[in-house]
Amino acid sequence: MSKQINTTQLIEVIRATIHSEKPFVALHEPVFQGREKEFVVDCLETGWVSSVGKYVDLFEQMLAEYTGSVRAVAVVNGTAALHIGLLISGVRPGDEVICPSLSFVATTNAITYCGAVPHFVDVDEITLGIDPKKLDSYLSEIVRIEGKRPYNKVTGRPISAVVPMHTFGHPVRLEKLMEVCSKYGLELIEDAAESLGSFYKGKHTGTFGKVSAMSFNGNKIMTTGGGGAILVQDEVLGKLAKHITTTAKVPHRWEFIHDQVGYNYRLPNINAALGCAQMEQLPYFLERKRSLADQYRKNLQLVDGITFFTEPPECKSNYWLNTIILNDETQDERDHVLEQLNDHGLMSRPAWTLLHKLVMYQECPRMELIASEKLSKRMINIPSSSFLGGLE
Ligand SMILES: *Cc1c(COP(=O)(O)O)cnc(C)c1O
Repeated sequence: MSKQINTTQLIEVIRATIHSEKPFVALHEPVFQGREKEFVVDCLETGWVSSVGKYVDLFEQMLAEYTGSVRAVAVVNGTAALHIGLLISGVRPGDEVICPSLSFVATTNAITYCGAVPHFVDVDEITLGIDPKKLDSYLSEIVRIEGKRPYNKVTGRPISAVVPMHTFGHPVRLEKLMEVCSKYGLELIEDAAESLGSFYKGKHTGTFGKVSAMSFNGNKIMTTGGGGAILVQDEVLGKLAKHITTTAKVPHRWEFIHDQVGYNYRLPNINAALGCAQMEQLPYFLERKRSLADQYRKNLQLVDGITFFTEPPECKSNYWLNTIILNDETQDERDHVLEQLNDHGLMSRPAWTLLHKLVMYQECPRMELIASEKLSKRMINIPSSSFLGGLE
């Protein structure tokens, strides 16, 4: 069958848009043009590289302030943030937790660490995240309320939470999702790992439920090397998040007293130092990424058979990873396009393998995942580093 996407043209357009002739262009590279070196050297010179030091507090303050959160607790990675976020939200062994199949494996892994079972629901094509309308009608079929708690009629297990994920930085329909959550008595815990700098109706993602998780892995919009944070909108839960992630140690001048099973999830000071310097540059990263997305959107209109994905209505996305979506006529050409782009030094990737297809999650309950299947077959991420693109 002849291919419909002119990949030669696509490559030319992407090259012209990113203004880079480099033989290999990565999907997303970090940028360290601020005070990273100064802050990291300060850690080395003062000896405060590990579990104590001023940068952890400072980084947490900067995150809380930027996102408008009551508290931010810095941890070793986004997966750990999700794990503790779920725990302090009351997710217990034997519960089911609703999440999208279209996500990174960390979402379901964290649910599994709690002894809970992921329950997959579909996404919509406007946001790439959980579809609240489908969720509502699905829950109305499968949920039985007993003593104010929602149970899955089919499996008999309690359902405790919904974990939406803001795919590639694009916010989900948070207001509608919150309505559905309160209708069925479910906690909302945002996997905001990809959405630092993304806003829904002017409010930062990750601040809609009481607790959410962020990631600062090396490929995210800003990085601490490895790292994450729990955003908390409640003083008591904020204290608990800090306590549990720091071995649940009760303060004392010399005694080691721990009052529950804790975790050693605290972000080291040296990573937090990197984070403080990166936070200072976040507005610049966001501006550059928005400008790159704008240029992609304009230029890719020239290429037939694909659509450039743009932010959902009433949202401001961080455009972490730029995405093209194949049309109906070109839906079978994904691997051909991936091959061509990668062969020509433009690192590109499909979306994740849908989580319900991974061996360890195949038996999990799920609704029909029509949009997820369709999107995962058609989405391609293209180079998105904040230094790419001509200055506008
Ligand atoms: C990056 C990411 C995480 C967390 O990843 P870490 O590598 O543990 O920081 C969680 N969920 C999603 C959707 C992610 O993209």
